[in-house]
Amino acid sequence: MELILTRAKQIFTRTGIPGADFAVNVYAGCSFACSYCYARFICRFKPYGEWGNWVEAKVNAPELVKGKKVRGKVVMSTISDAYQPVEAELNLTGRVLRNMSRDIKLDILTKSPLILRDVELLKEFKNLSVGFTLSFEGELKRELEPKAPAISARINALKKLKKEGIRTYGFISPVVPGLTDVENLIEKTRDFVDYFWIEMINVDAAGKEFAEKVGRIPTRKELVRYAKELTNLRREVKIEEVVLHPWRVL
Ligand code: SF4
Repeated sequence: MELILTRAKQIFTRTGIPGADFAVNVYAGCSFACSYCYARFICRFKPYGEWGNWVEAKVNAPELVKGKKVRGKVVMSTISDAYQPVEAELNLTGRVLRNMSRDIKLDILTKSPLILRDVELLKEFKNLSVGFTLSFEGELKRELEPKAPAISARINALKKLKKEGIRTYGFISPVVPGLTDVENLIEKTRDFVDYFWIEMINVDAAGKEFAEKVGRIPTRKELVRYAKELTNLRREVKIEEVVLHPWRVL
């Protein structure tokens, strides 16, 4: 994995992602290298090669957040995982949190139990949610996201965060009819999360790579039908949104 150290001009950037107003990406690129990651599009704008083989770290990010206030919800991260392996060494996310205003409405989405390292800092934020992406297990996990932490490790981390009094959520994504076991993921985590988000696979962004791995890709019709079925789960658990790309919320 190639690590590129850079300096950014700003760290809060406007985002069109559902439910968020700003994004903070301390890193660009992600060594978890999930084959379905929609963020792989940034490889078109970076000269470093294939998705998953490089990570850009914005070394001045902790300075850039100091004293900054923004109105609206900030999501961390949208083109990386703030707690991917390099974070254990650089502690960039940890230092950003240390310097960030505790009044910021912050949403951290990760796949990594490394976030537990910062639990005491997280508890200082007045309006914080921490989400864990819940996706595949077994053979599909090995095929599609072999470098990401196991689902069991993500669930354990959710349990610990919940026990610490942190608001948590499960982000079930990517949902592919017949492959993503949404109900099972909900059953395993419903006691440790306050709510769920469900996101159908982003076919435009990562459909080709996904199809190469599993041999098929759902049609738009299948996705629409299944997304509608999933909204019925709202009778049993709190589901904030069922997201159907391109950013159409059902
Ligand atoms: S962990 Fe998230 S950001 Fe990283 S490759 Fe996987 S889907 Fe993309």
